[in-house]
Amino acid sequence: MTKLPPNARPKTVAVHGGESPDPVTRASSPNLVMASTYVADPDTRFSVEGTSEDSPYVYTRWANPTIDQMQRKLALLEGAEACVAFASGMAAISALLFHVLRPGDHLVMSDIAYAAASEITNDLIPDLGIEVSKVDMSEPDSVREVIAPNTKLIYAETPANPIMRLTDLRAIAEIAGQAGVLLAVDSTFASPIATRPLELGADVVIHSLTKYIGGHGDAMGGALVGGREFLSKLRQQTAARVGGIISPFNAWLIMRGMATLPIRMEAHQRTALEVARFLESHPKVERVVYPGLASHPQHDLAQRQMDNFSGMMAFRVADGPATARALAKHLNVIHYAVSLGHHRSLVFYIPTADMLESTFRLTEVQERAYRDYAGDGVFRLSVGIEDPQDLCADLDQALAQAP
Ligand SMILES: *Cc1c(COP(=O)(O)O)cnc(C)c1O
Repeated sequence: MTKLPPNARPKTVAVHGGESPDPVTRASSPNLVMASTYVADPDTRFSVEGTSEDSPYVYTRWANPTIDQMQRKLALLEGAEACVAFASGMAAISALLFHVLRPGDHLVMSDIAYAAASEITNDLIPDLGIEVSKVDMSEPDSVREVIAPNTKLIYAETPANPIMRLTDLRAIAEIAGQAGVLLAVDSTFASPIATRPLELGADVVIHSLTKYIGGHGDAMGGALVGGREFLSKLRQQTAARVGGIISPFNAWLIMRGMATLPIRMEAHQRTALEVARFLESHPKVERVVYPGLASHPQHDLAQRQMDNFSGMMAFRVADGPATARALAKHLNVIHYAVSLGHHRSLVFYIPTADMLESTFRLTEVQERAYRDYAGDGVFRLSVGIEDPQDLCADLDQALAQAP
């Protein structure tokens, strides 16, 4: 494997970390090994149980050399010992929940989180006999209050989709540590360039690789990043058996995307700040929520916890549905589409009534806190790496068509 100096910085790690030139051909860029199986020694065991990172390759659902290189690169960027990749962010989240939780256990989860993560913990997880408390994690006390002897996992997401509300990871990690409970953090919106939750005391980091880490909107993937012992067990006992592993081709694409993650994040932040300021001054825009703006209610926390404010923001207008129609029809550069973290800018309207019906099960107090950010609906804008002036002009002409 490429030897990096121990103090190599993120831009160098992103390019070289985890990769190994091919020992036979001496190819400088990583090989794509699509093989599902490997010619084995006669004493190879027919189970993933007991295999380690150093074991010979047996079957790609257990381990694969291309996936391994990608996992090592991401682990290095997060400052972690290990990483296990999955077919999607949701496959990573599902594997984590299935690995850690058993009937009678208790999960403390952010009341606002990525839609499918919220939805799977509304019904499927409780149906397995697991108790779920959904709390506003921007208030650490609300986590402390629900911790019980059977609490096994605290699940945070910061910044939280779609309202860009932040969670103070140091504060939550302290509570988790005192209670002896595992803390998992979905850090997809931040990426390791902005926030490294393990340094702040978290145990596991969750990523949708489909977003910033892959960065080009052409490959789905997910990952769990954390300690070697925990993830080695998770890989053997859950990931390799539940089977939602990433395709080596997707791992190869995502690894190539990761090489430019630090410079893309710099560009996302720079461009997003210009777009956020433009939107904040636009007469049709009522509110912009971007961690990099002084107007973000947790701007201080953002400055402490985020080395980069990323390209994600939310904004509100008076008539959301009509504006959504105008943007979908008239935007030329920005795509009206779900997903985020791509080099292309993407925008999508998220009506509050829909989210409360399908996704977020909120108490009255929680709903008020959500509406405080989102009102009746919010546009989620993922600012890409196009020219900021072109993006502002595109938004300006499309907003001109809105009521
Ligand atoms: C997209 C996303 C996920 C799910 O990832 P997929 O790759 O779509 O399965 C999870 N969490 C966050 C914050 C996301 O943005």
